[in-house]
Amino acid sequence: MSYTLPLQGETFRRLGTMYELPVSLSKNRTLADEELKTLIETDQFDSDLASLADSVRREYYGTDVYLRGLIEFTNYCKNDCFYCGIRNGNKNLERYRLPEEEILTCCEIGHGLGYRTFVLQGGEDPWYDDAKMCKLVAEIRKRYEDCAITLSFGERPVESYRAFFEAGANRYLLRHETANESHYNRLHPPTMNLKARQDCLWSLKEIGYQVGSGFLVGSPFQTTECLIEDLRFLQQLRPDMVGIGPFIAHHATPFHQFANGPLRLTLRMISVLRLMFPNALIPSTTALGTIDPLGREYGLRCGANVVMPNLSPVGVRKKYALYDNKICTDEEAAECRHCLERRVADAGYKIVTHMGNVKPLQSQQSRAPQ
Ligand code: SAM
Repeated sequence: MSYTLPLQGETFRRLGTMYELPVSLSKNRTLADEELKTLIETDQFDSDLASLADSVRREYYGTDVYLRGLIEFTNYCKNDCFYCGIRNGNKNLERYRLPEEEILTCCEIGHGLGYRTFVLQGGEDPWYDDAKMCKLVAEIRKRYEDCAITLSFGERPVESYRAFFEAGANRYLLRHETANESHYNRLHPPTMNLKARQDCLWSLKEIGYQVGSGFLVGSPFQTTECLIEDLRFLQQLRPDMVGIGPFIAHHATPFHQFANGPLRLTLRMISVLRLMFPNALIPSTTALGTIDPLGREYGLRCGANVVMPNLSPVGVRKKYALYDNKICTDEEAAECRHCLERRVADAGYKIVTHMGNVKPLQSQQSRAPQ
């Protein structure tokens, strides 16, 4: 399997055999806005971006791909994001909450399959208050000292984040979704705001979490300028993990008629992220695998280094429907694990089963010459 892209002419200056802009991004880890705009708006640079991104990921991570076992523990959500299938306004969705014992069983199965990171993801569900979450996190921590505990259930007060951290959580994933305020307001109801979300990210960092942020690619009303603002926000935040994925329409949301985010643009943005944030943990997401059967393999080849197989009980998988046609909803945890192992190997990489922490960023001078 290879990810090759056609080049369309020689409009842009080449350095040796590579286009100047991708090389410059790789060397300097940044570009001016107008250069980023050029890079984002054409497929001209895609193969150079992908090959530079792959060599940077190999410098840091070799061919290693880190595993995260995803446990979708609640699909209740008090929010009404216009793009999301588990939004509160979707009254046709059958709601579920996994009881603590079932979450612990998922961890046990996952540990047996070699997972050393558990990601507890869910809607913003106040039923899981601080006391319940701290008890759960502390229990997982007690049982699995050798594992990272990643949380991802949205915005909470800073005191709650601190309590979860003290109970044993290490990482928190909270995509900012879009860093452009007016774009944010077109994707969310007035009860939500970008600053509150970004403040959460800053608080999480300050507490000491390894923080993941990220954005939707191809969401309705997104412009190139929005994507550039996403990159600029990430440059300020300097997260350990950056998760991006294509927007995919869900039939029961206000955005049901919008087109899905494009595969190529998503892959291009993964490569750009790898070059701007060389040591970042970047997942090749389920959403990417949903818009193309080989999407996750392409993502890895364009610079991603993490996969997140599903550990949720099969009985609830279809109910965690963020978007239509979500893949991996029928397979047991072991099947998902082995399927991904094969896919990662087919793409030319290797799953490793340790905790998978972020590697330190090398100074630009100490990097091997391109
Ligand atoms: N509630 C938590 C939060 O707000 O971060 C975590 C759960 S939320 C459903 C996880 C992610 O799903 C969001 O950050 C969003 O980017 C993604 N998502 C939601 N709806 C989507 C859609 N229609 N297409 C692609 N990704 C979507």
